[in-house]
Amino acid sequence: MKKVFVIAGILTGLLFAGVSGEGHHAEHKHWGYSGSEGPKHWGEIDPKFRMCKFGVNQSPVDMTRFIEAKLPKLQIIYAGISQNVVNNGHTIKVTTQGKNEVVVDGIPFVLLQYHFHTPSENTINGKHFPMEAHFVHKSKDGEYLVIALMFKEGKKNRALEKVLTYLDPKVGHKQPLKEMFNPGDFFPKKLDYYRYDGSFTTPPCTEGVRWIVLKNAVEASKEQIAKMHKIMGSNNRPTQPLHARVILK
Ligand SMILES: [Zn+2]
Repeated sequence: MKKVFVIAGILTGLLFAGVSGEGHHAEHKHWGYSGSEGPKHWGEIDPKFRMCKFGVNQSPVDMTRFIEAKLPKLQIIYAGISQNVVNNGHTIKVTTQGKNEVVVDGIPFVLLQYHFHTPSENTINGKHFPMEAHFVHKSKDGEYLVIALMFKEGKKNRALEKVLTYLDPKVGHKQPLKEMFNPGDFFPKKLDYYRYDGSFTTPPCTEGVRWIVLKNAVEASKEQIAKMHKIMGSNNRPTQPLHARVILK
């Protein structure tokens, strides 16, 4: 009898461990953007983050050292919706649903989510933009592709206003975006882009990510960008060395 209770006790313990693991820093140790948790130390926080320190194809980068290339027209086929918005403690993230795809190198990549950084992470000719959005896509084979979109100060951005309207700034409070809108509503008319090979800009800094950086920024109002920054703080990893890479334009 006693034995049974011990086993039950262990099982309960495991269950609780499982449940508490659902919290917002579930899989990884704590990392951030300043002090001992900041980007300089990411590689030391967890052995799983070692690429943050030893990788040679890291993101973000400064768009420089260009090679002229005849890059094919970007085929963005977004037919789905933006679904939920959450401040996950590192960024404001919008999850998406439905058929949102981009085809690059003949491979379809499905949009998983998009999120924001203030100021921009990638820079163009050494210049930061006040905000950058990352549209994160994954292929059937588990490869990643990110489309980066820069924001500059100007007119109020209607899609961003919807995100701000439904966002609960409290960390971890996921909210449905009650007005459905296409994630492609953010994109500029002209989809000219730079391309390079990089990584996630957050731990574990996984490499092998195809980066598409749109050349044309879109506008958002000063107030909107300030609101985003107030919630997220400065959540930009500094630009990383190019090493052997070039940027295609
Ligand atoms: Zn990002």
